[in-house]
Amino acid sequence: MATGKIIIAIDGYSSCGKSTMAKTLAHAIGYIYIDSGAMYRAVTLFALRNRWIINGKPNVEKIISGLNDMKITFRWDEKTGKNTTFLNGENIEDEIRKPEVSKYVSPVSTIAEVRKAMVKQQRENGKNKGIVMDGRDIGTVVFPDAELKVFMMAAPEIRAQRRFLELTDKGLNVNFDEIKANVDERDKIDSNREISPLKKAGDAIILDNSNLTREEQLKWVLEKVKEITG
Ligand code: C5P
Repeated sequence: MATGKIIIAIDGYSSCGKSTMAKTLAHAIGYIYIDSGAMYRAVTLFALRNRWIINGKPNVEKIISGLNDMKITFRWDEKTGKNTTFLNGENIEDEIRKPEVSKYVSPVSTIAEVRKAMVKQQRENGKNKGIVMDGRDIGTVVFPDAELKVFMMAAPEIRAQRRFLELTDKGLNVNFDEIKANVDERDKIDSNREISPLKKAGDAIILDNSNLTREEQLKWVLEKVKEITG
């Protein structure tokens, strides 16, 4: 049994509710929540704004040289009750969820130096434990010693439907088939890349939430936390 605060790593496929569960869990137990995907999305947004992605291809050298000019931070927004992502002091939370960013984030995330810089910051965030972090390589690479690792999955149709509703709820005009194609494409790139591919850590517990409500998922994960922390 662990004494004191632990590290909770939540990995899994795109749009299977990782951040929703990670966020509510962190809130319930008074831990910090870090959305590692938001960090890769912030780098992608910065690259798009600087026109470092041309004809769908990221300019690797430019992106690497720009890493030092990107300061990615998170703040709790009292008004929206949400964890909010900032890039050099600008609130980019809505911008990074747009399809344009989703389209290029996986290719940008294959760049070794980008990963190195993000992992460094993620480890810094977790150095005092008491953190829930979600992503693709948290239990395998960022925190291989995390006390609790969850690997989430859900049927592809359900995942695309969730992403579609999330975007239409925000008033965006999006096409379901395009969303589904993006979710599939990102999973393919994320799972097959050379560095830190998405895969289940040997000691991660699988959670298939295709047919679970948010409340049921929270209850499930809280029980796991309790088993570890007592
Ligand atoms: O979690 P989210 O879907 O917002 O992540 C966006 C993308 O960022 C993923 O599809 C993946 O390419 C990349 N990512 C990653 N490693 C992480 C988190 C996200 O490569 N730890």
